[in-house]
Amino acid sequence: MERLVCVNCGAAYPAEQILYNCTACGHLLAVQYDLNKIKVTKKVWNKRPLSVWRYRELLPVHIEPVTMQEGGTPLYHLKRLGDEIGLKELYAKHEGMNPSGSFKDRGMTVGVSMALQLKKRSVACASTGNTSASLAMYAAKAGIPAVVLLPAGKVALGKVAQALMHGACVISIRGNFDRALEMVHELCLSHGLYLLNSINPYRLEGQKTIGFEAIDQLGEVPDRFVLPVGNAGNISAVYKGLLELKDLGFIDSLPMMTGIQAQGSSPIVRAIRENLPEVIPETHPETVATAIRIGAPVNAEKALIAIRKTGGCAEWVTDDEILRMQRDLARKEGIGVEPASAASVAGVRKLVEIGAIDRSERIVCVVTGHLLKDPDTVIKQCEPPTEIDADLPSLLSALQL
Ligand SMILES: *Cc1c(COP(=O)(O)O)cnc(C)c1O
Ligand SMILES: [Zn+2]
Repeated sequence: MERLVCVNCGAAYPAEQILYNCTACGHLLAVQYDLNKIKVTKKVWNKRPLSVWRYRELLPVHIEPVTMQEGGTPLYHLKRLGDEIGLKELYAKHEGMNPSGSFKDRGMTVGVSMALQLKKRSVACASTGNTSASLAMYAAKAGIPAVVLLPAGKVALGKVAQALMHGACVISIRGNFDRALEMVHELCLSHGLYLLNSINPYRLEGQKTIGFEAIDQLGEVPDRFVLPVGNAGNISAVYKGLLELKDLGFIDSLPMMTGIQAQGSSPIVRAIRENLPEVIPETHPETVATAIRIGAPVNAEKALIAIRKTGGCAEWVTDDEILRMQRDLARKEGIGVEPASAASVAGVRKLVEIGAIDRSERIVCVVTGHLLKDPDTVIKQCEPPTEIDADLPSLLSALQL
């Protein structure tokens, strides 16, 4: 039913071929469905629980999937923050509520299922943290070994803890994420492990369901979809999914796809601003938001199309703006996210302030990972608990009562 198609030259490959790049031109691949043959209706989907697998007719998995009940994450109306920023219709889709605490689970339930469908017996990835946590979890569920490569010293504590506890073989390299990805890619090609970074077109299929769910929850297509951007897989995936919904006639407009990066790691923002045909990689990306600390975004080619074709935009925010929004989400909305996740909402605040977003817009921000992923960055921002003697007068005095 589906096949792999090169986004650059259009070369097509059978769906069961294990391929991460076009063999003709080296560019990215995408999964293409024969949409005329897909007979599902919205009514059928609506009867199923909100989850990645509600949309299984638009997914490439034809075996019993490896699932931990991912997706079905809450969409919160940000009333207080929206008032502050001047937006009545500002929403956050809290992807930290997935089984391993990030949206990567949507990609991994599909990716690890595909590994089994394609008869692969081991999986691997490079990761800034969340991909490794998620892959380790799904590999454990599938009962197959996982190898994960991390940039030494640059992965948040909670994520390493997950990868280790779920039993992956965890390797730290003295180099950054971009180098880790090159290495694991070579390893997979030479030793037959199945590569589950976002260069893998099947993984992105799972991630596109963020957009499907948000539209189902909102009851209509938002004007704008805002995502933090690292390797740019997620923004590309959401766009691809919404194009498919439009082609199926389930929706009739597309939201403006908007990507937010950290100032010290913003090659996509630069490419959009300067109207470059492709991104110029940054060799020393730096930001407190380690999940988006990426200088050479693997899916840049797809993301630039998504942003340009929908009249969206790309913007950077500083680490201070990211951390301030992390605190605001936590304290004004009760939403606990890791720094990278706060970038999307921080980006909206900035874009409204500079007049690039109209206040009447209905906006969905994806907040990508849970607060507990990166406890160190939380503790550094907050006053430590006040320690007192165990008696009531000390308590009253500590509370200044
Ligand atoms: C992976 C990740 C991102 C970046 O997603 P890309 O698809 O690489 O652009 C953002 N936030 C969190 C928490 C992540 O884990
Ligand atoms: Zn090609």
